[in-house]
Amino acid sequence: METQYLQVQDLERDGPLLDRAAALLREGQLVAFPTETVYGLGGNALLPGAAKAIYAAKGRPSDNPLIVHIASLQELPPLVREVPEALHRLAARFWPGPMTVVLPKSDWIPYETSGGLDTVAIRMPSHPVARELIRRSGVPVAAPSANLSGSPSPTCAAHCVHDLDGRIAAIVDGGPCQVGVESTVLTLCGEPRVLRPGAVTLEMLRQVLPDIRYDPGVFHHLSDQAKVASPGMKYKHYAPKTRVVLVRGDREQFRRFLLGRQGALGVLCFEGDLPGGRWPVLTYGREHDPASQARQLFDALRRVDGLGVPVVYARVCGEEGIGQAVYNRLLRAAGFEEIAL
Ligand code: AMP
Ligand code: MG
Repeated sequence: METQYLQVQDLERDGPLLDRAAALLREGQLVAFPTETVYGLGGNALLPGAAKAIYAAKGRPSDNPLIVHIASLQELPPLVREVPEALHRLAARFWPGPMTVVLPKSDWIPYETSGGLDTVAIRMPSHPVARELIRRSGVPVAAPSANLSGSPSPTCAAHCVHDLDGRIAAIVDGGPCQVGVESTVLTLCGEPRVLRPGAVTLEMLRQVLPDIRYDPGVFHHLSDQAKVASPGMKYKHYAPKTRVVLVRGDREQFRRFLLGRQGALGVLCFEGDLPGGRWPVLTYGREHDPASQARQLFDALRRVDGLGVPVVYARVCGEEGIGQAVYNRLLRAAGFEEIAL
């Protein structure tokens, strides 16, 4: 199919383009669109056929559930069996924004959308283009990241074009994403747990829910038999084909480590870590600036295979704030392989 490319810079001037994208969504077609975290691949969350089309376009396993996006709190009650009191407090603080909450689903949400589960993940994004698109579509919008399954999430429209051109009805280009890693996912079904770290950090959530903790799958490799709290944890994510190994240490230790290696290698590190020349180098932000790391990580991971080396050593150190989300994504890109210096 021919994918329409719709550039939206100004909500008022480009309103007709958003109306076109919203109509496509309503009738069950797929549209990639910007959010503050990463680009989403949207489909009408109430239509089983649209959910199936999302899985097919991404090559995503159909038991990995989709996040349902809404534009206002009034849209929530029909989608869930109950709205717990904690949700109101979380929403008041963090919505619209990069937080996704898992709740018991209502019959409105087809099992195709929830990946066969009796729960549904809900988010209200803050990106003006996302909000306006959802509002104009008039339906809840199921939207996983707009990448082919297994490859890093898209943080600009060019990434979506690379992965999905010809496979979906339209791509809305609203510029690069400000956050750069996917939303924080937490569950309110049972004990509150963070299932995926993001820009809304555990510390921030604890100001509202003092007892919330990370699910064990967030920073540890779960055996295939382990019962995972979030199906996405099972799958190899964000992974280049090239072997990636995390190396924990300061700049000097990291340089010495690299000099002691034999054979071809590539490097993923912070700006200014290496004078350059000796190895192919990619950077992901500045050392003490985790927000810059989050913004650049996926673009860097998308370039890893292009280095043409058998192994890439990625420097990690001291994760603060959104740095925990960056580390969680890097662990998965590296298949949990990490060396401490
Ligand atoms: P993505 O759409 O690519 O950002 O991935 C969505 C993530 O949210 C996946 O890792 C899912 O496993 C997780 N998720 C979505 N719905 C649920 C749910 N009902 N229960 C637990 N995790 C969920
Ligand atoms: Mg994804």
